[in-house]
Amino acid sequence: MGEGMTIKVAINGYGTIGKRVADAVACQPDMEIVGVSKTSMNADAYIAKARGYPLYIADMTKRADFENAGVSIAGTVIEMIAKADVVVDATPGGIGLKNKPMYEEHKVQAIYQGGEKHTTTGFSFNSSVNYDGAQGRQFVRVVSCNTTGLVRIINEVDKEFGVEKVRAVMVRRASDPGDIKRGPVDAIVLDPVTLPSHHGPDVQSVLNHIDITTAAMIVPTTFMHMHTVQMTLKKPATREAVLELCRAHSRIGLINKAAGIKSTAELKEHMQDLGRPRSDMWENGIFEESVSIVDGNELWLFQAIHQEADVVVENVDAIRAMASDVPAAESIRMTNEALGFVAVK
Ligand code: NAD
Repeated sequence: MGEGMTIKVAINGYGTIGKRVADAVACQPDMEIVGVSKTSMNADAYIAKARGYPLYIADMTKRADFENAGVSIAGTVIEMIAKADVVVDATPGGIGLKNKPMYEEHKVQAIYQGGEKHTTTGFSFNSSVNYDGAQGRQFVRVVSCNTTGLVRIINEVDKEFGVEKVRAVMVRRASDPGDIKRGPVDAIVLDPVTLPSHHGPDVQSVLNHIDITTAAMIVPTTFMHMHTVQMTLKKPATREAVLELCRAHSRIGLINKAAGIKSTAELKEHMQDLGRPRSDMWENGIFEESVSIVDGNELWLFQAIHQEADVVVENVDAIRAMASDVPAAESIRMTNEALGFVAVK
């Protein structure tokens, strides 16, 4: 893409992730939304209309459902992708793979989400690790919310101290806040009972040299996951040196003692009070007091990960990585600045 040109972005799947990526793209100086798509009429269609995003649908037999509700339809998904340089596919896991022949046929670049397998694209992305490797690719996958959160902190620590191995436990939210169909309502569910959970192998899809084993369980909450991360380091580290790494990374936030926050609920309240759109926490929320060094080279910490938000900024960078020659650090700066995002320190 030449200087001064705008990257045309389509969002295929305007749901929890898609609507956030659409708003994040729309405020970037070098990108524009050419359309968003949905399958069935619901409140999100009114939001697309209010934002001025042309709305496309996969199944034209549903057109009347939208138009009778006062939402006009710009055309089919195929017509939408014909207008785009890059499609962000934020359809539910598994649908993206089915969409791949359509993107191939129309020779459009596409970004997949963590619900798709690594093999769908052969390239799993995190802007702090492998931005340059996405340049010119037709297909890139932004890893899931949990994997994004793990990769960010593991990569920083690995670059400075070397990571011998990682052991992490994910306490996962049961559903997104608006999802009334999922549970559990009153249980702690092992996800799965066996080790490892899928998160460890997924981290290796970005950082393939890291020895990592993970376990996960699901609890009845809707806002954020909580990770216990333990890393054995190759070189001894101090707590202060690890905190410095966190302070230096624009997408790692530190929740300090004075804030008095020790739960996801209080973090959500804080994000609301900061005026973040949809209460979104785009950064890892590392609890400063939890950062501990045991026996000289064992690092422990707790981090909160907002499942609906941390991948949003990564999608914006992935678009630039694939479709422009803007370097990684500049893209991350541009993305953050356009969102008015200053990490909590
Ligand atoms: P969602 O169900 O909230 O939204 C999906 C949207 O896609 C809906 O609007 C639906 O109408 C639309 N859709 C379905 N089939 C379609 C089709 N064939 N063509 C066009 N649109 C279609 O899902 P989500 O939570 O936003 O998840 C999307 C992807 O992001 C998945 O891969 C998921 O694993 C991943 N992800 C989700 C989260 C999260 O916490 N919600 C976090 C990180 C990654």
